[in-house]
Amino acid sequence: MTIADKLSRAAETDATFQRVGPDWIGKCLICNGPIAFDVKTGEGATLEHIRARSRGGTDDLDNLAVVHGRCNWEKGRRWDPKKRRSTADYDEFVARLLQKRADRWRGM
Ligand SMILES: [Zn+2]
Repeated sequence: MTIADKLSRAAETDATFQRVGPDWIGKCLICNGPIAFDVKTGEGATLEHIRARSRGGTDDLDNLAVVHGRCNWEKGRRWDPKKRRSTADYDEFVARLLQKRADRWRGM
């Protein structure tokens, strides 16, 4: 499965997303701001692993979300061990995102 396929599967199972022509349009899981991406290329969005793969996160759909590139980058900064953010803070943030993903869940 390509990144674009995974983005589409994540959008299909997120109730904030609607298919509009060649795009999926919805809300970024992290900031709730508007986001759109091209179904074929995935251009316009970043695939988010809510629980990072380096921390045991999987490719399961309930761990995947559609986010802005900048939001993904800012989340990544939260758990950089060289930064001042604690692990507990990161874990709390991840738990909030997993809950938000569950709240938005749209069954297939
Ligand atoms: Zn965002």
